[in-house]
Amino acid sequence: MNRFINWESLQFKKASGKEKLRCPECDTTRTDKKDKSLFVNHKEGYGKCQYSGCGALTFRDDNEKSIIDKYTDINPDVFKSVLKNEKTINYISTRGISKNTLDAMYVSFERYYQPALSKEVDNIVFNYYEGSKLVNKKFRSAGKKFTQISGSKPIFYNINSVIGQDTVYIVEGEFDVLAMYEAGYKNTISVPNGGNDNDDYWINSEKYLKDIKRFIIAVDNDTVGDILKDKIAHRLGKHRCSYITFDGKDANDDLISGCLNKSISNPVSFPVSGTFKVSDLYGNIMDLYNNGLPKTIYPKSKYFKGMKEVFSLMMGQLTVITGIPSHGKSTFTDWYVLNLIKDYDLKASWYSPEHSPMGLYHSSLSQKVIGKSFWSNLNGKAVNRMTEGDLSKYKEWANEKIYLTDCGDGDSPTWDWLLNKFKEQLYSFGINVFVIDAFNKVLLPKGNKLEEINIVLTKLTHFAQSNNVLVFLVAHPTKMKADEKTKIYDVPTLYDVSGSADFRNQTHNGFTVYRFFDNDELGIEEHTEFINQKTKYSFQGEINGNVSFKYCAENGRFYTGNEEPLLPLWEDEDVKELPKINTNDAFGGEYNINDELEF
Ligand SMILES: [Zn+2]
Repeated sequence: MNRFINWESLQFKKASGKEKLRCPECDTTRTDKKDKSLFVNHKEGYGKCQYSGCGALTFRDDNEKSIIDKYTDINPDVFKSVLKNEKTINYISTRGISKNTLDAMYVSFERYYQPALSKEVDNIVFNYYEGSKLVNKKFRSAGKKFTQISGSKPIFYNINSVIGQDTVYIVEGEFDVLAMYEAGYKNTISVPNGGNDNDDYWINSEKYLKDIKRFIIAVDNDTVGDILKDKIAHRLGKHRCSYITFDGKDANDDLISGCLNKSISNPVSFPVSGTFKVSDLYGNIMDLYNNGLPKTIYPKSKYFKGMKEVFSLMMGQLTVITGIPSHGKSTFTDWYVLNLIKDYDLKASWYSPEHSPMGLYHSSLSQKVIGKSFWSNLNGKAVNRMTEGDLSKYKEWANEKIYLTDCGDGDSPTWDWLLNKFKEQLYSFGINVFVIDAFNKVLLPKGNKLEEINIVLTKLTHFAQSNNVLVFLVAHPTKMKADEKTKIYDVPTLYDVSGSADFRNQTHNGFTVYRFFDNDELGIEEHTEFINQKTKYSFQGEINGNVSFKYCAENGRFYTGNEEPLLPLWEDEDVKELPKINTNDAFGGEYNINDELEF
């Protein structure tokens, strides 16, 4: 357990930024009295003594209630220690973990109620400290049942260990933190809930992680661990992450088999944009060689029949959507994105000031997700309305999938503001899909409009590529001409998008949503056409190819078959498997091969 210095007792020379002070904990034992070993970060409110024998910590907020006011205040004294814990310690020693490590990590033993067993049992207790404050206790029974204190603060286990570090290891369980500590890797933290990635612990740990230069992801060597690894790297930014593949299942396994140091010594970088040697890309090259062209992404349900052949996407791409006002380009885009996040387990963020207030926007999104009308009638006719129960299921489903972005009172919605917002959301929420509706709702800097549009589109494509996310940009066309005889408007292409031909040239992909109205003379029945305007690679679809949709006004969904889509998205029978998308761009960055289409 670390030693702590009371923040209030320190003699600061500054009130902001960073500074070095003499450490009151180890000063008296040091020969060099001038050595300022206590590094203090005023902005984040923490400090650590860098002297190796000391390592004392100080936290400004330790005495403030605000640090835990949202969460249960845990008094460490109310728990009863287990008297006969020798057996447990012996068991733990068979896992290669010594009593010294248990003491240093403040592991304790308590009798506590395990809900899964419906009784009180002896437990190993992992104490979650933030500063000197106990913010959570996790109880592990002999039979590997877990429980924790309800309402406690979600945060990484062993978060104090990252203070003052350049490099941090992230593992998938408390026992792995102990194993890493045992092997000398003390700067190791663990996700608090195994493979269940959720937003709260990231947000609560942000101030400790944001200045870390390098993360080494060392999660379990299995499918859940693979997915978690990608999610962690996505939030932290791949450029500062690398990963380890254990020989056995995890750090503890490798500690027991004696190869932990060897596993740790071989971290592999994620491919990010930059310069690549063949060896950096060899995994990707072999993947192409063995498995063929990369898998593209498209809505998989029967309501999008034929879509895969006409239009599909790859992670890291910008897609521009256009269409005549009232032709349903926003409605279609929302439905398309909702299907992607459902089919591929993604998370999406909308910036859509055209659809404010935000509560009202959820009425439209929830209709599409649930498949029933939000309102009790449509144009005066009674319709099948969602129940409060449906709405509550929507909340549960959408809560960590759908995020709406608002520009607060003090901010003005510039492109720099929006991209910074998106970067924050990458970390805090692990978003992989960003929808901007629409282009003209974000302020361009004053100056040459053509140039400014070019700069924005460059920034958007770079943002999509470097973070391996999908960006959807809705953009209005210039006023379209109508045919003199039929009065039917031309289909707008990406060249018709108001402001610049760069909307066509710069984007990876684009499509038009075009609505045909009932016309007896021409024998046209009302329907909506999806038209591929551009796909970057030929294997992504067919340029000018189209898919014809009907529209269900009751729930705002589009569908290709004869059957109206009325089931909640999560009950869709068509999509059984949730394929894991390879979130590493299959090519590891920009490239030019003959496959690229000429424009
Ligand atoms: Zn010290």
